[in-house]
Amino acid sequence: MNIQLGDRNFVPQRIFCIGRNYVAHAHELNSDVPSEPVIFMKPPTCLQPEGGPFAFPEEAELHYESELVILIGKEGRPETIAEARTYVAGMTLGLDLTLRDLQQKLVAKALPWERCKAFDGSAPIGQFTKVAPDLDLSAITFEGHINNEVRQQGDTSLMIFPVEQLLLALATHWKLLPGDLLFTGTPVGVGQLHPGDIITLSSPLIGSFNWTA
Ligand code: ZN
Repeated sequence: MNIQLGDRNFVPQRIFCIGRNYVAHAHELNSDVPSEPVIFMKPPTCLQPEGGPFAFPEEAELHYESELVILIGKEGRPETIAEARTYVAGMTLGLDLTLRDLQQKLVAKALPWERCKAFDGSAPIGQFTKVAPDLDLSAITFEGHINNEVRQQGDTSLMIFPVEQLLLALATHWKLLPGDLLFTGTPVGVGQLHPGDIITLSSPLIGSFNWTA
């Protein structure tokens, strides 16, 4: 899936995701609050645009996780918070779809998460908005609605690790590349989706996007 941002076109090769980046969400999963970012990845084949439906095994417990998604605009390894900020080209909202029952089984056995997090279509994303250099990334709010009922309210000021710090953590292991995406973690309020559910993600600074499960 290509990403258009103004006159630039990006072909994402990697999707970085952060687990447990909001205290209240870590608690709802009965997890510890991490002392450093929990990083996992999804392949680009997980991406899907607005619309749906989502393909998932009928017996599976498919959970939504509403998240702010960052688009990296240049190549390199930032070393300071200020430098990290200059790598952010765009942002949107997305869903980190998760097979929660399977995740709990894998976590209990300390096995990798790919089967529960990196399946086809597990990363629906909205249209990207350009990020101005002076925009405060710790002052973004967003909401996740299921069937017109608000379930998640995100506020990036509540992140355990702010966006710039996440980029610094990534850069210690990977040189950032244009088109890289970063799912920044979900706030409290995750829950199960059922076929036909209508999911709406919205933010005053980004827009509103819809999917049917
Ligand atoms: Zn997530």
